[in-house]
This record gives sequence, C-alpha cells and structure tokens, in this order.
Amino acid sequence: MARLVKKFGGTSVADIDRIRNVALRVKAAVESGDQVAVVVSAMSGTTNQLVNFTHNVANVHDAGEYDAVVAAGEQITAGLLAMALQDIGVRARSWLGWQIPIETDGVHGSARIGRIGTEGLEKIFAEGQVSVIAGFQGVGPDNRITTLGRGGSDLSAVAIAAAVNADRCDIYTDVEGVFTADPRIVTKARKLDKVTYEEMLEMASQGARVLQTRSVEAAMKHKVRLQVMSSFSDEPGTLVVDEEEIVEQEVVSGIAYSNDEAKITLVQVADRPGVAASIFGPLAEANINVDMIVQNVSADGQATDLTFTVPRADLDRSIKVIEDSKESIGYRQVTPDPDVVKISVIGVGMRSHAGVAQRMFKTLADKGINIQVISTSEIKVSVLIPAEYTEIALRALHTAYGLDDE
Ligand code: ASP
Ligand code: MG
Repeated sequence: MARLVKKFGGTSVADIDRIRNVALRVKAAVESGDQVAVVVSAMSGTTNQLVNFTHNVANVHDAGEYDAVVAAGEQITAGLLAMALQDIGVRARSWLGWQIPIETDGVHGSARIGRIGTEGLEKIFAEGQVSVIAGFQGVGPDNRITTLGRGGSDLSAVAIAAAVNADRCDIYTDVEGVFTADPRIVTKARKLDKVTYEEMLEMASQGARVLQTRSVEAAMKHKVRLQVMSSFSDEPGTLVVDEEEIVEQEVVSGIAYSNDEAKITLVQVADRPGVAASIFGPLAEANINVDMIVQNVSADGQATDLTFTVPRADLDRSIKVIEDSKESIGYRQVTPDPDVVKISVIGVGMRSHAGVAQRMFKTLADKGINIQVISTSEIKVSVLIPAEYTEIALRALHTAYGLDDE
C-alpha cells in the first residue's frame, strides 16, 4: 500500500467527461489498495475568466476580493469530482483550503503556505475515503481566502504530499511527462524517465511549462517524489527525484527555451565604478527582475555598451525607468529589443564534464546564429539569440547533445 497525492490540472478536468475519466483513475488507485488524496485545479479557462471578471467589474483592485473570486474555480471541480467518485462507488468528500486548513500568509494573489492541518486528512485516509482538495487556495491569518499565484495547485499538491508524508505526488497533465525539449518543436524529443529536482527547477524556470517553479522548489526542499504524467494515457510519466537515484546521468538532460524575455542595450555608458548600481538599483526598486547581463570592455577606457534582459511584460516600464535615470546613469542611447529568445541547456552532468558550453557555441556558430548574451550556472548554460532562430537552434542543439530519439 502506498500513500499518494494525485493532482489533476485544468485540461484533465476541462469538462464533465474528463472529470468522470479522472474519477475512474482515482477509483483504480483506491482499488489497488493505495491511500489517495486528490488535488484539483479549476477547469481549464475558468481561472482566466474569473480574473477577467475582476478586471471588468471595477477600477479598484482589492487583492482580497480578487482571491475570493479566482479561488472559486477549484471549488467547483472539487465538488464535481467528489460527486463523480461517489457515483462510481468511491467514498469521497471535497475540501476547501480553509477546511483543511491550508494556512498561508496574508499576501493575497501570491500567498506562501505555512502550516497545513493533517488531523482531518489522516482521519479520512484511515477511513479509506478520498479527500478531493481544492488546489491554489488557502486561508490567511485574518481568516480570509488566499491564492498561491497562477499555476499554484501544483504547489498545493506538493505541500499536502509533504504534510501527510505521501510516498509520491503524481501530477497529471496533458503531456506524458518531462521531455528533453518541447516536442511540438523538436519532433525527436524524448520523454525522460527520471530527472533531478535541480534540473527540473532549472527547466521550469527556463521556460518548460510542465510544472510550476515554486512547486519544484517545495518538492526539492521536502524531498517529495514527484511524477509528471498524462491523465489521457496509461504510460508511466517522468519521476522527479534526488540525484542519487539516477544511475546513468546524461551530461545534458534537456533544452529549454523562453520567449518571455526582452533585451535592453545601453549604448556608451561611462566605464566607471558605480555605473551598474545606478542602472540596476532603480530597476530593482521598480520590482523588475533583471536576468542576463553583459558588459563589454571599452576600447578607450571611457565608455562601454551594457546589455541585459528583463521580462518582456516589463520592457516598456524598464525603458521608462532607464530614461528617468538618464542623468544619474549617463549614457548616449537606450535600445529595446523584444525579438529575442533565451535557450538553455541543462544537466547536472555538467558539473563533472568540460566542454558543454563550447559545444553549444560551436553548434550555434555552425548554423550562423549570433549569440547576444551568455550566462551560466553550475548546471546550465543559457544564450540569448534572435527569436527567429528558435526552432533551428533547439533542433540543432538537441542533436548535438545526443538527445535525439533514434
Ligand atoms: N487555476 C489556477 C490557475 O489557473 C491554479 C492552477 O491551475 O494551478 O492558475
Ligand atoms: Mg497548472
């Protein structure tokens, strides 16, 4: 017998038929003797619609009422799935965040989970019942509903799995697992049987959309075994585990891309101490996250060009911040460029293998692709290139690192 938390995402519960299909899967697990708790997302599209309602109803933004509205989608699916389970003879009850309770801080819209009450859940496990828990939501210190940020039901599932000491947390989605690259672009992409927490964390934050980044962080911290799998197939998914569990580690496990970034170049910035602080200070104050940075050496020791990336959604705001600080920074010109893509090769094997970055540079050079910015971490090399080369670069790198499915 295993204790499992199973989380079903929006596409898996998108309509009544799919909810009934999920119920059958849960029933099969219960019948094989496992203890099961389920976490659900809202039906796909629902949360977006609720967010739009909050935008359209008034000009004010009340974060607490926003949460009261957008948390409603998960309440619907939890109730419907509990009914679908009962209908096929599985004893099940829905649970909202406050009923568990899933206690959070009071930061509406992106609350952090604190304590999770497990007494009720343990009782339900012991009775052989299934709890169907509304993901994405919790209860704040003032007893009001909070939400965990978009995509937050992954985090709900991981946090509950950690709290009840589950043997595994299965995340059901519309893809069969974690792939070496986006299979819609790289047709030779392969599903990974296993991937380490660290790699998954880099993949999630570098653009792979299969798991919410915060949920991977939480799984790594609490050592929750995760499995990413499809609710539409019976294939085993991808296990996200500790490095020790992976016997034969590839040097590069996956290639991610993100077109959520934009590039800004400051032309002819003075080459003197304090310049970087004068640029990145105001951006940080404006809550803009700078990712990659490159500063060129100045030919004359006087002025240099400085290039960096910001989230594309923050590009206009960033330019304004830079222009407002023109006097204190001192530059000739600022050039925005939204037409870039960040491509990252990721793998814990890089720690012990040289030449990974070089292979990336050579592969892109052979395709005539110019690299604009480079950044590296212990297990990742990222480059910024023109967006039009996204497909060519992904496919070429996938082949170059031996990841192609033969
Ligand atoms: N329904 C929420 C969202 O769309 C949470 C989730 O799906 O994980 O962001
Ligand atoms: Mg999701």
